[in-house]
Amino acid sequence: PPSCGLPNKYVDFFRETMKNEGRIIINNTSPAADESRSERLRQNSLTMREWDIPYDELTIEEKIGAGRFSTVYKGRWHGLVAIKTFNLNNSLDDWKALEAFKQEVVTFCKTRHENLILFMGACMKPPHLAIVTSLCQGLTLYTHIHLRKDKFNLNRLIMIAQQICQGMGYLHARGIVHRDLKSKNIYYENGKVVITDFGLCSVTKLCHGNRIRGCLKVPKGWLCYLAPELIRSLHADSDPPQDLNDLPFSPATDLYAFGTVWFELLVGSWPFIGQPPEVIIWQVGKGLKQPLTNLRAPREIKNILMICWAYQPEDRHDFSKLQLLLSKLPKKRLQRSPSHPTYLLRSVES
Ligand code: ADP
Ligand code: MG
Repeated sequence: PPSCGLPNKYVDFFRETMKNEGRIIINNTSPAADESRSERLRQNSLTMREWDIPYDELTIEEKIGAGRFSTVYKGRWHGLVAIKTFNLNNSLDDWKALEAFKQEVVTFCKTRHENLILFMGACMKPPHLAIVTSLCQGLTLYTHIHLRKDKFNLNRLIMIAQQICQGMGYLHARGIVHRDLKSKNIYYENGKVVITDFGLCSVTKLCHGNRIRGCLKVPKGWLCYLAPELIRSLHADSDPPQDLNDLPFSPATDLYAFGTVWFELLVGSWPFIGQPPEVIIWQVGKGLKQPLTNLRAPREIKNILMICWAYQPEDRHDFSKLQLLLSKLPKKRLQRSPSHPTYLLRSVES
């Protein structure tokens, strides 16, 4: 469970959910505890075997993308699938991370929700580490918003946001923190939102892709999703280089990232766009927010942004509360109101 000065409610939340997932390892040396622990490990390794896909059962077809640590291929395994392979960097001695990766796979396989990508299994034998999921045929919100400049009306925006909240609320209830919620990891096809790439923390640990000696490599477009407490725990010149997975990610940092996605949906660009990373880091770390003066939107809509972007993690609500706020947004009334011909900067349906 994460620590790093998190508010108690999140620490408790984690203890509970981790316990429920059977993933907590209790430091109790009594024989009974030992026995139940080894029983649990045995159960976990049984479950793991169920989800292990032998690498040679996969047919890998064309490459469809490359991310920070992985290459994604279209492929076949009992039908069309996406195969995400991980490029290991001679870090195989890091068996702890590999074990954690396996544990995460077990957790992923228990995620069943309409708005989450269907996780089918994983190749867990190095050097062929891969994750097999359903193939998303639609476009990501990133492509819709930033590349195609698609414009959605307010009703549509609210529907999209609500579906993200549903998927995220489910993940949190299962004790999974996404850690990389961003418009690139949200697909939208035929009116349905599908969230991908949740909780791949141990995988990135195995790949060490973010390490460059003496400096922190910040992936492009990543900073504006990071909550102030994450920004404040970034150390640019630590030696050995900082492991991004040791940052205090929590349900509340996912909430913050959702705020940024909500901003992207409303405005069509990122917050702090065009500003150098060090300026963004300084502002967010100090609690300054992207000004909303140019956003012509009702107060309730901006209010959701302010709740997600709250400086203190404990002021950020949770996804079920957000969903309630979204469902109360005055969509119909505003659409007809002549005094609000355009209530958003981008308000025309594409
Ligand atoms: P990132 O999310 O940082 O762009 P990823 O490694 O998650 O990096 O993915 C790289 C690219 O592969 C994505 O941008 C997307 O185009 C594609 N991709 C990933 N997962 C899927 C999937 N399940 N279905 C279809 N395309 C995918
Ligand atoms: Mg992704």
